[in-house]
Amino acid sequence: MIAKWWCAGLVLFSLHAQADETVSPRARQLHENAIVLDTHLDTPSNLHRPGWNILERHDQDGEFAQVDLPRMKQGGLDGGFWVIYTAQDKRDEAGNRQARDHGLVRLAAIREMIAAHPQDFELALTADDAARIEKAGKRVVFISMENASPLASDPSLLTAYHKLGLRMLGITHTSNNDFGDSSTDPAGHEWNGLSDKGRALVQEANRLGILLDASHASDQVFDQLVELSKAPIVLSHTSADAVYEHPRNIDDARIRKLAAKGGVIHVNAYSGYLIPVPKIPQRDAEMEALEKHYGEYSKLSPAQIQQWRRDQAEIDRKYPVPRANLDDYMRHLLHILKVAGPEHVGIGADWDGGGGVTGLEDVSALPKITERLLAAGYSERDIRNIWGGNLLRTMRAVQTTAEKK
Ligand SMILES: [Zn+2]
Repeated sequence: MIAKWWCAGLVLFSLHAQADETVSPRARQLHENAIVLDTHLDTPSNLHRPGWNILERHDQDGEFAQVDLPRMKQGGLDGGFWVIYTAQDKRDEAGNRQARDHGLVRLAAIREMIAAHPQDFELALTADDAARIEKAGKRVVFISMENASPLASDPSLLTAYHKLGLRMLGITHTSNNDFGDSSTDPAGHEWNGLSDKGRALVQEANRLGILLDASHASDQVFDQLVELSKAPIVLSHTSADAVYEHPRNIDDARIRKLAAKGGVIHVNAYSGYLIPVPKIPQRDAEMEALEKHYGEYSKLSPAQIQQWRRDQAEIDRKYPVPRANLDDYMRHLLHILKVAGPEHVGIGADWDGGGGVTGLEDVSALPKITERLLAAGYSERDIRNIWGGNLLRTMRAVQTTAEKK
C-alpha cells in the first residue's frame, strides 16, 4: 500500500494551484443530483489506524487521508467500491495464510464501519441497492478486492466473500500472483495471462455475480478476461497509454474492446501514471528506507504519520519530481471519453491509494470534474452516466449473467 505513495513520485506538499477553480451553480446542481460513485476507494486501509474516525474531517497533507464523511458530503461523493487491498507477499504457505488473514480483517473493517454508523453508511449488494441508499442520503458501500491473493490458499473462499458482500474482484496488484500476471512485475510474465487457477476464478466470479476488474493486470490478462468472462468487465482505476505510455495504463484498441464488451473504464488520478516521472534511484532508496523504518501504515498514530510525511517532504526537497495536475487528469479522461464513448467511462481516482493531483487533492474537489465535463460539451445525461450510471448498468449485466446459470 505504502509503496504506492512514493513510487509515484508525489511531491507531497502540493501547490493548490487550482484549488480556487470555481464550480458553476449548474455543475454543482447536476453533481448533487447524480449518483456519484468512485470505483476504487482505498480508504479501508485507514479504518484501523489508531484514533482515526471516518466521521471526522482529515487533512491530506498532514494525515494521508483523502476520504471521510465530511469531505464526501462536500464533494458530493455518494460512495463507491471500498477496497480490500492486499500487498503481494511471498507465495508460499505462510505468505498465502498471511494474505488470507489480511483479507478477512480488511473485510471485517469495512463491515465494522457500516455497523458503527448505520445512519451514514450502508452495504450495497446490487445496483438497485445503490440507488435506494443514495436516495436515503446515506453513503453507498460496495466491497471490492484488489489483488486476489487472499484467495490463493483456498479459492473457494470466494463464495464466503460473496455472501459477505464482495461484488468486484481485481486479479493482481503490482506483482504476479497465483491467478495471473501483473502489468508491472519486474520479473516479467509468468503465466502469459491467467493461470488455470485464474481461469477457474473468472468462471466462479461470473457464476456468483462478481464484477471482474482488470486494473493492474497484464494486457494478456485483460484480453483473456474480455474473452472468457460471460459478463462485462471493468477497469476500476486505469489511465490511457495514448496520453502517457506506462505498463499500468491501457491502449486505445483495448479500450474499444472493453466498450464493445459493455464494460467501463474508470479513470485513475495517480500522478505517476498520468505524466512522466523521472526515475531517481537514490530517491527511491531513501523512500524505501523510510517505509521500512515506519512499518505498516495502517498501524501508525496520527503523530507518526505526520512525522513520516515531514521526512518524505525532506526527500522531495532533495530529489524533486513533477506532480500531475487537474489538466493532466482531464487530458486522460477526455481522451478515454473520445475513444470509449461516454457510455463506457467512469471515475476511479485511487483515493487513499496514491491518487489525487494538484487541483484535485481529495474527494471534496470532485465537482470540478463535472464542471470540466460540462465545459467540454458533455451532456447532463452523459455526466450522470460517467459518475455512476455506467457502473450500475454493468453491475446489472453481471447480476443478470449470474442469474442465468
Ligand atoms: Zn491500485
